[in-house]
Formats: sequence, C-alpha cells, structure tokens
Amino acid sequence: MRRLAIAAALCVIATVAWADALKLDGTLTEGALIRGFAGPGAHIALDGKTVRVAPDGHFIFGFGRDAPARASLDVIFRDGKRLHRVLDVVVRHYGVRRIENLPPAEVTPPPEVMARIKREAAEIDVAFAQQSDSVAFETPLEWPVTGTITGVYGVGTFLNGQRRQPHLGVDISAPAGTPIKAADAGIVSLAEQSLFFTGGTVIIDHGYGLSTLYIHLQNIAVHVGDRVTRGEIIGEVGETGRATGPNLHWGLVWNGVRLDPALAVGPMPQPNAANPATAGAARTTAPAAAVPILPPPR
Ligand SMILES: [Zn+2]
Repeated sequence: MRRLAIAAALCVIATVAWADALKLDGTLTEGALIRGFAGPGAHIALDGKTVRVAPDGHFIFGFGRDAPARASLDVIFRDGKRLHRVLDVVVRHYGVRRIENLPPAEVTPPPEVMARIKREAAEIDVAFAQQSDSVAFETPLEWPVTGTITGVYGVGTFLNGQRRQPHLGVDISAPAGTPIKAADAGIVSLAEQSLFFTGGTVIIDHGYGLSTLYIHLQNIAVHVGDRVTRGEIIGEVGETGRATGPNLHWGLVWNGVRLDPALAVGPMPQPNAANPATAGAARTTAPAAAVPILPPPR
C-alpha cells in the first residue's frame, strides 16, 4: 500500500516536470548547435520562426558566426503552458588569415568560370535545404577523420588583400586516402566528384535541417539518396578543388546557417598510436599547406 502511494507521488512529480520541462544542451555562443527537448507535441519558435519538433519532443537550432547577441525562444507545451526565454549568445573573437602572392585567377575567377561557380553554389544550397524526418540529429556527432586541425571556424579570410568569405568549418589535415566517416547517420543529399572550389563533395542530411559537409575528397563511396550509418565510410581525404594539401574541410549546417562542428562534437580521439607512419604524417603537415581557398562572399 505504502509502495503504491510512493509510486503515485512519483508519477505526479514526473507529470508536473514533463508539462513544462525545457531542456537545452549546448553552449550559447556563436556557431553553436543547441539540442533541445520540450516534450512531444510542443511548439517552438526561435526569434518568431517555427522550429520543427520531432514526435519524441526533441529539436535543434543553431547560431551563425555573426549571430545577434540575443535570441528569444518561445515554447508552447502540449498542455498549453507557455514559456518565453531570452538567450544571451556569447560573442566569439575570430582571427584573420591573409594569403598573399596567389595567382590573380585564383583570387577572382574569370567570368567564364563564374557561371559554373554560381550553379554549384545553388546545388549545395538545395542540398542544405533538405529537411528529412530522420531523427539522427538527436545523437552526438563523431569526428569524421582524426588528424591535425589546420583551420578553425570563423576566421576572416583575405586573399591578396581582398576580403573573402570567412572560414566556416574545420580543416583536418590527414594523409590522402584516409577514410572519412559519416559524422552521424543520415541520407546523402549531395555527392559530387569535382566541384570548382570544393572538389569531391558530400553532404549528409541528418534530419530536421541539420546537415554535415565534407569537401576536398579524392574518392567518394556514396550516392545521393543513400542512407548511411554513423561512422560509415563515405570517401577518402584528398586535395581536390581549391586545396593546397590533403585535408578534410568539415562543415555543419542548420537550416542554411553554417555552424562550428568543433562545438558539436567531443574531443578528437588521438591518431592511432599503433600506426606511427599515419600519425606522423598527419602531425607534420604544415598548417599553411592545407588552407583551402574559399569562394568570394555571397
Ligand atoms: Zn576549410
């Protein structure tokens, strides 16, 4: 009898907590991916725009490189209760990298190449716009490759003194041919062998507007529409497109907003100590040798 009463009391507590529980996981800062939970049937709006909520009550959103300092999050729980929260988005300070003495055609592509660049950029945007119902976004990401990080998120870029799009991903230097793993399960939304800037390019849709991007691949092992599991090999590290050394540029995108993958993944596992040749090659690649040249700002 007494046990029953305790069970009933626990049940009430659980129901009350369920009714107006909002859980946010992630650092509120520029470039961050935030995972949330508000219970099944909740409605979420970020700065007035609806955020899709999965049937199990989970959702995600993110802040871009230059996100406003404040965001407002509105929740309507299944029982009708409302919650309004102001989120303070911590400002980050990004460095600048300057690359001089590049051939002019690499800094400002000739007009005959611009049509191709625009077409490929549109193709990438279409892939990023995929919003499948996969709930892979709920599980943590894993590093697609281990190696030396030679480029971080957010850095402003100047080529021959001209401002270009900031670096909106993480560069991981690793020997050509190193297998690249899918950072999470999902559906391949783009698999192209040779785009102008990005070379061999793969995009995986993890559901609810979250995608990962992999560029400069030398071999691609997947096709558009393929379902991949977390950790499945999708291709190999290369230096295709505008890259001056073998490296993987890894990107993370939520609803078209480029996020910082390094904020959405745990510490990188150490390169395989049992294979010193591979580990050494990864470590000794000079950072400047793996800097990809990015498209002009759009
Ligand atoms: Zn990069």
